[in-house]
Amino acid sequence: MTRTIKFYETTLRDGEQTPGINYFAEEKLEIARALADMGFDTLDCGFPISGEPEFEAVQLIARNVHNAEICAIARAFPGDIDRAWEAVKDATHSAVQPFVSTSPLHREAKLGKTRPEVLELARTAVARTRAYTDHADFALEDTTRTEHDFILEVVDAIMKEGVRFVTICDTVGFAMPWEFGELIDELRREFPTIRISAHCHDDLGLAVANAITALRHGAERVDTCFNGLGERAGNAATEEVVMAVRTRRKDMDLDVAVDTTQIIPTSRLIARLSGMQPQWTKAVVGANAFAHGGGIHQDGVLKDARTYEIMRPEDIGLPAHERRMHVGKLSGRAALNAQLAELGYTLTPEQTSRAFELVKHVLGKKKVLEEMDLRRCAETAINPSAAVEALANEGVVAEGAVAERTAG
Ligand code: MN
Repeated sequence: MTRTIKFYETTLRDGEQTPGINYFAEEKLEIARALADMGFDTLDCGFPISGEPEFEAVQLIARNVHNAEICAIARAFPGDIDRAWEAVKDATHSAVQPFVSTSPLHREAKLGKTRPEVLELARTAVARTRAYTDHADFALEDTTRTEHDFILEVVDAIMKEGVRFVTICDTVGFAMPWEFGELIDELRREFPTIRISAHCHDDLGLAVANAITALRHGAERVDTCFNGLGERAGNAATEEVVMAVRTRRKDMDLDVAVDTTQIIPTSRLIARLSGMQPQWTKAVVGANAFAHGGGIHQDGVLKDARTYEIMRPEDIGLPAHERRMHVGKLSGRAALNAQLAELGYTLTPEQTSRAFELVKHVLGKKKVLEEMDLRRCAETAINPSAAVEALANEGVVAEGAVAERTAG
């Protein structure tokens, strides 16, 4: 039977830890509303102990967003947990997720704590959170660099305290997909009732692969950030996990319960408020994700988009006209014709051939073809003498006049 995966959407927390991002409270609320409306289950909204503005932003979301679970994180200290609960307690659906580092490197270099001390922090953190809510999740920071016997010890202790989701973290993006899958298998074998959330980072570009692997191995939930934001190289990208599962749902026996048609609007909202545009070739939401540059590809897409597109632009909310046929050095006549038709030109085959030659000529001198260049190539191809006159009237003559005035 197809299983619907859950999301712990952390754009507002790990995503805000992206160096360079600073959302104001109202902006966090706007993003939270968009994420909740899309259908994400839990929104990780922040780290209330880190300061008053963060506390207030999380509380604002908790009081105003009713169609998602509102979660806050806390170190495994009583004061942190109390503050996190205080921030989310007014929500219609609330949760708190304390965390502690479990790996030897983090225990020794960062925390200065022994295994028994870390174990006790984890146990008491879950116990304290449970005193407030049944929705007590717990994250083992840097799980993937932790001794397996210690992972099992910590998980055993927090499960006995009534933890809900156990978040297995590849905090530094170190895990290989097969190792991550084996770890999930081991945990499910040892603890048949465990509910796992997978938190994956992209330091080696494997965050989404690891997240999907965790889901395939029985994790119920994944932690993701829109546009792949997050610490360093970011987290598993929300839109990539959503569309990977949706596109291959039949083969995975998994599906998502989110409104995919809001992916582009939400991605753009977050890009605008974060000030960070996704890279052009970014999967799903990059400016080039539905753009075609090679002549063979363009010809195929113009005949049937499925030849080179595995997702439909409309399914992610990308307006059809934003599917681009890039006219460049490697593009073909089909794309040029399509582009010129959009600009209102209808060319005969001979005129197309002339325009095509002109375009290639211009691209030997200029990096990028602008709309005016395309128009000139088309007009010159249709009527060489008229186009040259038009050129003289608008551009060359005017420039000459400016040069004269400057000289004078
Ligand atoms: Mn993280």
